[in-house]
Amino acid sequence: MSNNRARWAQFIRWCKSLLPPSYAGVKPLAAGPGSGLLPSHGQWSYQTILENQAELICLYRADTTILYANRAYRRYFGLPERDLTSQSYQPIIYEADRQAVFEQVAAMTCHNPQVTIENRVVVDGEVRWTQWNNHCYCDDRGAIVAYQSVGRDITSLKAIERDLGATVRRDRGPTDAVLQTAASLHQRNVTLELRLAESTHQLVATNQALRREIADRQGAEAQLQASEDRFRQAIVQAPFPIIIHGEDGEIVQVSQAVVDITGYEASQLKTIADWTELAYGERQEAVLPGISRLYSLNRRIDEGEYEIKTSSGENRTWLFSSAPLGQLSHGPRLVISMAADVTQQKQAEANLDHRLGQQAVITQLSQIALSGLDLQDLFDQSTRLLADSLTVDYGKVLELLPDGQTLLLRAGVGWPQGLVGNATIPADRSSQAGYTLASQHPILVEDLATETRFQGPALLLDQGVVSGMSTIIQGSDDRPFGVLGVHCTRRRAFTQEDVNFLQAVANLLATAISRKQVEQALQELNLTLEDRVRDRTQALEEVNRELQAFSYSVAHDLRAPLRAIQGFAQVLQEDYGTRLDDLGREYIRRMSDSAEHLDALIQDLLTYSQLGRTEISLHPVSLRAVLTDLVQELQPLATAQAAQITLAPDLPLVYAQRSILSQVLNNLICNGLKFVAPGVQPQIQIWAEAREADDGRWVKLWIADNGIGIAERHRQRIFRPFERLHGLDAYPGTGIGLSIVERGIERMGGRVGVEPGEPQGSRFWVELKG
Ligand code: ADP
Repeated sequence: MSNNRARWAQFIRWCKSLLPPSYAGVKPLAAGPGSGLLPSHGQWSYQTILENQAELICLYRADTTILYANRAYRRYFGLPERDLTSQSYQPIIYEADRQAVFEQVAAMTCHNPQVTIENRVVVDGEVRWTQWNNHCYCDDRGAIVAYQSVGRDITSLKAIERDLGATVRRDRGPTDAVLQTAASLHQRNVTLELRLAESTHQLVATNQALRREIADRQGAEAQLQASEDRFRQAIVQAPFPIIIHGEDGEIVQVSQAVVDITGYEASQLKTIADWTELAYGERQEAVLPGISRLYSLNRRIDEGEYEIKTSSGENRTWLFSSAPLGQLSHGPRLVISMAADVTQQKQAEANLDHRLGQQAVITQLSQIALSGLDLQDLFDQSTRLLADSLTVDYGKVLELLPDGQTLLLRAGVGWPQGLVGNATIPADRSSQAGYTLASQHPILVEDLATETRFQGPALLLDQGVVSGMSTIIQGSDDRPFGVLGVHCTRRRAFTQEDVNFLQAVANLLATAISRKQVEQALQELNLTLEDRVRDRTQALEEVNRELQAFSYSVAHDLRAPLRAIQGFAQVLQEDYGTRLDDLGREYIRRMSDSAEHLDALIQDLLTYSQLGRTEISLHPVSLRAVLTDLVQELQPLATAQAAQITLAPDLPLVYAQRSILSQVLNNLICNGLKFVAPGVQPQIQIWAEAREADDGRWVKLWIADNGIGIAERHRQRIFRPFERLHGLDAYPGTGIGLSIVERGIERMGGRVGVEPGEPQGSRFWVELKG
């Protein structure tokens, strides 16, 4: 009993020791679970003290059912606040540790009442490490009645131990001798361990964070590596040359295109010095300063074209541009130099230039040919330009001489003095030129020494000619003029374009030759033509003079007897008329009328023929003035017929010769008065209208009558001489009046025509410049 009391007293002392000094005056609080179990002491209950302890405290029976568990215990294990008495602590223990715990608890005796057990528990589904200081309480008979467990979570501690690989010393709880000290040490130890656990926990967390960071960094590094690999791959596979190089002279990377185009292996291109030595050879020193300057670039620059040499000795043109590419980790600046291989483009440009040059030669020669220069000059210039353009040693024009057997070196460049103009070669198939004539198409020779189609003539062999080409220069009359050729003293394979050029020059020469021949023929023709024209003119003048004489003779010689006939007819009528019967007088009248008609005819013919010869000079003539005079002259005739002639008031000026204009208008008005039906009073209207045309101002003068009109089918022919639509009995006339009108108007540069009148009659018009 006393022993038991003593143990309780020990227990209470120990409990007190756990309390901070400030608890000294605390009143006992309302009891919690297991209330009344623990003895009260003074002003406060021990249960209250236990309830507020941070340690996990539990009292349980020998059968493992719980007598009391403080708040820390309940919360730790998630137990209900009340009715714990039926609960067993057993399920709380991690199953694997249960046996060991029971064995250790079972080993406790009243004489050996204390044991510290470390075991795992299951808290909220999680396995955690705990340490328990167990104490058993015995009754007076020495039987264990209850156990007390004071525990704490040592999961972190265990983790540290695991990490350290050593066991951290545990405080073994109160003993009889050093309970107080132990409690204090334990408290400090717990605090320290907690701190240690906390800092260890922090360390573990920091460690984990560091691990994560390391993992992240490794991931980033892997990504960086992958991206670098991709970049490297992109460079290597780029379809154009790329060289990445550092200012320390190292080539970091070259694209496969560099290797493919140059034929140098990447292993040969380790440094810029390697590259420049291989690609530029002797020019290396000239190129290097330019490359050095690239490392201080801050933007991309175009460097221009560089000629590089490939492993096979071929020259290629690369168009370089470079850009800064940052720095290597150990310092040197990097530059990426990219190139476009423009070799083909350059060749195409050179070919184009060459072609344009040849076109310029053709143009120049065409101009020379057209300028009328003589053929010898044209041949000289052609061979010179041809040889320059094709860069050959010799150019030649061979002329086939009239015998058809020999070709003369008519013009040429490169030949020793005295040969041009004198040297000849056979025109048969034995020479290149003769073979060209026979085959009728361009002939190319690459090496005269191995030529089998013909032998080189002495002219070529003496000059050491090796290669050449020649083509025919066509002449006129299907006979070739000769041969155009060029030759080299070295082996050369002429291209189709070279042949085309040679042929173009030959064609040009052929054109110039035939033009010259035509010119010569024309000159000869011109010389004889002038003689012929002179002869013809003389003959015409002769005929003209005869015609004029004939006209005069008609005018004077024919009219004189006519006038005699008319005179005697009149005398016969007057002196013997009374002695003649009516028939006799009728004969006399008819004879007189015929003579009068013939006289009118002669007069009209004379007028008509004179109109063809008269010199015409046009002046502004007033239509109003001319017509007013005419109407006045015709007034007696008009009066006799009771005719009316009406002139429009606004008759303008026209360009004409007044005498001819007057004659023309007279004929038209007279016809209007004459060709009316019997009993009809002639009405003649005259007016004019002007129009502006591309060739100037024209005035159209209308003379309209109310006469018998003209059927449409006759409107053309009435202007021809002697064309009359009526017999002399119906309407007298010579049939020449309208011919005079047409010729007169045409001579004055105008036109004439006729249209049906409205509502009847005819409307004649003449049109002259106004
Ligand atoms: P001529 O008057 O002497 O017969 P022209 O050459 O003047 O000769 O005329 C030729 C013909 O045209 C006339 O015979 C006539 O038949 C016809 N002709 C000319 N003028 C007119 C007109 N104003 N009205 C009808 N017929 C006309």
